[in-house]
Amino acid sequence: MNPLAQLSVDELKGVGAESRILLESVGIHTIDDLLNYFPYRYEDYRVKDIVEAAHDERITIEGTIQSAPNLSYFGRKKSRLTFKLLTGRHLITVLFFNQPYIKNKLALNEVITVTGKWDKNRLTLTASEYKLNAVARTHEFEPVYHTRGDLSVKMLRKWIKQAYTDYYTDILEILPERYLTQYKLPPRNIAMRYLHFPKDSLEVKQAHRRFVYEEFLLFQLKMQALRKINRESSNGKAHAFDNGKVKDFISSLPFELTDAQKKVVNEILADMRSPYRMNRLLQGDVGSGKTVVAAILLYAAVTAGSQGALMVPTEILAEQHANSLYDLLTPFGVKVALLTSSVKGKRRKEMMELLAVGEIDVLIGTHALIQKDVNFKDLGLVITDEQHRFGVSQRRILRDKGESPDVLFMTATPIPRTLAITAFGEMDVSIIDQLPSGRKAIETYWAKHSMLNRILQFMEKELAKGRQAYVICPLIEESEKLDLQNVLDVHTAMTQYFTPKYTVGLMHGKLSADEKDEVMRGFGKNDIQILVSTTVVEVGVNVPNASVMVIYDAERFGLSQLHQLRGRVGRGAEQSYCILIADPKTEVGIERLTAMCETSDGFVLSEKDLELRGPGDFFGSKQSGLPEFKMADMVHDYRALETARKDADELVNSREFWESEEFAHLRDYLNASGILEGEKLD
Ligand code: ADP
Ligand code: MG
Repeated sequence: MNPLAQLSVDELKGVGAESRILLESVGIHTIDDLLNYFPYRYEDYRVKDIVEAAHDERITIEGTIQSAPNLSYFGRKKSRLTFKLLTGRHLITVLFFNQPYIKNKLALNEVITVTGKWDKNRLTLTASEYKLNAVARTHEFEPVYHTRGDLSVKMLRKWIKQAYTDYYTDILEILPERYLTQYKLPPRNIAMRYLHFPKDSLEVKQAHRRFVYEEFLLFQLKMQALRKINRESSNGKAHAFDNGKVKDFISSLPFELTDAQKKVVNEILADMRSPYRMNRLLQGDVGSGKTVVAAILLYAAVTAGSQGALMVPTEILAEQHANSLYDLLTPFGVKVALLTSSVKGKRRKEMMELLAVGEIDVLIGTHALIQKDVNFKDLGLVITDEQHRFGVSQRRILRDKGESPDVLFMTATPIPRTLAITAFGEMDVSIIDQLPSGRKAIETYWAKHSMLNRILQFMEKELAKGRQAYVICPLIEESEKLDLQNVLDVHTAMTQYFTPKYTVGLMHGKLSADEKDEVMRGFGKNDIQILVSTTVVEVGVNVPNASVMVIYDAERFGLSQLHQLRGRVGRGAEQSYCILIADPKTEVGIERLTAMCETSDGFVLSEKDLELRGPGDFFGSKQSGLPEFKMADMVHDYRALETARKDADELVNSREFWESEEFAHLRDYLNASGILEGEKLD
């Protein structure tokens, strides 16, 4: 146990009821809380050479006063005090606002140290602090803490200092000695000192390294423990599937599986065969052939006598998956059904009855799958496609529909590894890292809006060869109305240009399910040659004859989304093209478009996307599933994250960890987290 977590801040001298309330306002109750209240930045009092300072940088410089200070007032209480300062070989202006009393303390030719914000263009330092006669500071860095109300940084510095002085011997070391040695990390109490009272930037860095590792290790320990518990719990389903039948099914496919597909099919089938409860993430780039993998697994589950479910985020996708699974599985005697919100009344009731008695083997659908009245006879395998659109709780409800069914999550586009091992750290991961052979790389071009005529001519040329084209309009988030207008305008323009030779279809979120279905079917059958659409076609849609993807205002899309959209073409044998229409105004916009033109590797693009967007925005705002770290940064500190994950994995799978005294504190931590009692964490 950690004794400092039991000690109230009251124990500190000078902290009474009033101060306690101030501290509680920022969540500090105990001595432990106080010591773990980390600074978010440091005031840097190292004396700098002015030529090294960046514009707007906060710096400390030293120099001699070259002119008598000039004080002027403006407004009622406002004043400015200026003087010339020679620092190094540079003459600059120093400016103090609203501190008129300083004037009398300054004398010509005196040495002074000033701290403030540097304006490089005006050669002016707007100062807030000063010290005369080069009084050496004891600390070059002073920590700055988040404050609230009457709680000041000064108070925090004082109390933290006192807490540290009184209790540093009681600071609990949670990391095993061997890691401290191996990674050259300072012990916890020393790291605390480095963090709150650093002598120099090196100490700050060392403290940072230690706490980043600690944070990642503790988090990964929970994840890996959870993974181990899942794997070892034998209450999962041991699917006794028919290996011969599964093999026959695979050989009936019109193509041979890629090596990568074979590898993941084997990994997943091994999970299904075992009594473990499968909890696996399947990653693969756009077009890597995840759907057929899903079909194989669903078929295997059915040959083992249980039912399978496939949950997808949109109705279009549900219908398309239902169609392809129907074609693939029906010849093998599998009964496939599609449940969407448009299945209603009597039809729905009938379907539910069939499902409950096991007359439906594989059910495909949207969120409709997780409604209360949907009951399976024996749900054995759940696959969710494009899973990061589903919230954690929705995933849980679906899983709870069966008796510990095996669960597989498929992603639409690759997730950067750092995010994957954080947001899905408790899962096993399979990766399809290869595209089916014979695919031609999609040629990607970036064009300006002013080049629209040439783009239209290009589309016409492709259409003349019998191909089809998508034209995607962006979602303008603030306004559904504008959105619709946008896609309608483009549709009108395209219709004017291409009629009567070609038919232009229109697709957007405001259409009814039937209307969408009709449009998609029309495009699938080549009754429609040009499909103008919002991003509803983004995920999964498969029309191999489409060879041109035109994206309007491409700078408005994230990289993963652009890649996903581009993945709608290049699905057949023909050369495909992606044309990004964009006049980006920001650096990030330009970088995105450049990246799109340079690579078609989804794993590379996802890393780039993460770099440009940051982890918080990667999954979009909703339910990102990412934990918040106090000090660690998944992107910046990815090496520490990898190391911590590896260590945590080794730890929970070693006997020593569960028995040896060396790891007692880490075990206590796991116990306190509730993981070991089988509580799942979100
Ligand atoms: P995604 O991984 O994006 O969901 P799909 O499953 O939609 O990819 O597959 C894309 C296309 O590739 C489909 O038309 C599918 O039939 C085809 N395909 C899948 N696996 C192979 C393979 N091993 N060889 C050739 N074509 C394949
Ligand atoms: Mg897919």
